[in-house]
Amino acid sequence: MEEKEPGFPANWDEICYEIMKNILIAKFSVPELKDKLKATGDAVLIEGNNHHDNRWGNCICDRSKNKEGQNWLGKILMEVRDTL
Ligand SMILES: [Zn+2]
Repeated sequence: MEEKEPGFPANWDEICYEIMKNILIAKFSVPELKDKLKATGDAVLIEGNNHHDNRWGNCICDRSKNKEGQNWLGKILMEVRDTL
């Protein structure tokens, strides 16, 4: 598990997915951004990174590349896209 920043609620791990989803619903209510997300069609969206974040994305660094990330950010983006 990743180290938490000071000030995060104790149950952050349980609530962060829904909080991020609500943030992204708000973000993609902006027409220009909504169009960009829709334009991805049915592509699988993966938050690729190289900073070892296998919760929100999928790290592709040498150390992490053989572990599949949970890609929560990509999953949420696809969930939000399905509602547009
Ligand atoms: Zn990594």
